[in-house]
Amino acid sequence: MTQTHPPVQSTPAAQPAPANTTGQPYEYRRTPLVEPDWTRFPGWRHVTRDQWENAQWQRVNCVKNVKQLRTVLGDTVDESFYADLEADQRAMATMSMLVPPQMINTMVPFAPPSTEALLADPIRRYMIPVASDRRTDWPSHPYASRDSLHEHDMWVAEGLTHRYPTKVLAELLATCPQYCGHCTRMDLVGNSTPAVDKLKLSLKPVDRYDAHITYLKAHPGVRDVVVSGGDVANVPWRNLESYLMRLLEIETIRDIRLATKALMGLPQHWLQPDVVEGLERVARTAARRGVNLAIHTHVNHAQSLTPLVAKAAQTALDVGVRDVRNQGVLMRGVNATSKDLLDLCFGLQGEAGILPYYFYMCDMIPNAEHWRVPVWHAQQLQHDIMGYLPGYATPRIVCDVPFVGKRWVHMVTEYDRERGISYWTKNYRTSIESADLAALSKRYAYYDPIDTLPEAGQQWWQTHRDD
Ligand code: SF4
Repeated sequence: MTQTHPPVQSTPAAQPAPANTTGQPYEYRRTPLVEPDWTRFPGWRHVTRDQWENAQWQRVNCVKNVKQLRTVLGDTVDESFYADLEADQRAMATMSMLVPPQMINTMVPFAPPSTEALLADPIRRYMIPVASDRRTDWPSHPYASRDSLHEHDMWVAEGLTHRYPTKVLAELLATCPQYCGHCTRMDLVGNSTPAVDKLKLSLKPVDRYDAHITYLKAHPGVRDVVVSGGDVANVPWRNLESYLMRLLEIETIRDIRLATKALMGLPQHWLQPDVVEGLERVARTAARRGVNLAIHTHVNHAQSLTPLVAKAAQTALDVGVRDVRNQGVLMRGVNATSKDLLDLCFGLQGEAGILPYYFYMCDMIPNAEHWRVPVWHAQQLQHDIMGYLPGYATPRIVCDVPFVGKRWVHMVTEYDRERGISYWTKNYRTSIESADLAALSKRYAYYDPIDTLPEAGQQWWQTHRDD
């Protein structure tokens, strides 16, 4: 087989940023997408384009442990990096390691990898966290919890969360083709780690899916199903198609959204002929029945957008999926600047055919304080990104408030900036509050990371540490 390595690319991203000539806080310049040259990694020096674009090759060559990462990176990084990573995995990591080559290739994309560059890289910072990333003063907020959104508490059948009146979240499985360090479903998703013994789904998939369909048939007020996991890219296609076709037979279901970070992390999956053909059958049926079928993906940084990601999104649109949307997560050290967000949104909207839809504030899970931003910071970012993108493609930054749900960050009712406590209200009952008459008049709290508070606020939390 002829080796067809991509040429080493030189792109605007690899060159010094041009001077801002507009006098505006952000200057837009179109940046074409580029597939970084994977042969810059010692372990992939001889990997062909055919191999690279093969979903099976990507899955088999996912990096699952330090030894495999060493094989890829070789001695381009110091021993100290691997020791830092091992220290994190021993004590802090809430997700086990699973990174497809596609994602590793977007780390330090246009230069030879080095310890310094990798430590600073935004994709590495959330996909391969190391101990020195985490905060030592407050690694977790005192109110952090494993199932911080209480999704499990709101299960109406195994894996089916009924939180909003008209919508449900269907977790079909508890695995993904990639594991993100900040995963909000760290309670359930992925393998157990030394720090977290995971909850296990107990029903057979077929029984779980039956239970979902039975519930949805019995509840005609639910019109919208987010089909998720984990990541639906790990459901064998035949099973996923069968589930979707059963949903499409329920007359009251009007929106179906497929949640898959793999559209970006493993776009090769969504380009496999059997998956594309199956998606087309589902999209055709959805169109015939007037159901909005969309894909929701999860891209956090412009570096992750490559021609293969754009091709996977475009292919889904070509076969009839109505929209491909992005739900990113706002994280310090990854994307929590207006420039990072706008670069990503312009890449999504202008180059990849993906609608910038939401950015979630990182949830209050354990060991996540170094990623989380305070509400005021999220409000400032929302302010700063307005007016550049088309209005319909300007994402909302939202806070997923425990027991409430998504609230636009400016919807806060009251905010104690000193202690970093914001208060929120809601306008519907979750499935566990049907008998709670006070649910709609209560205020629900959300907490800023303590290290971002003024001195007096930090001292208050020190004093109340064990309350
Ligand atoms: S893809 Fe989504 S569900 Fe899977 S680990 Fe990442 S954030 Fe969690």
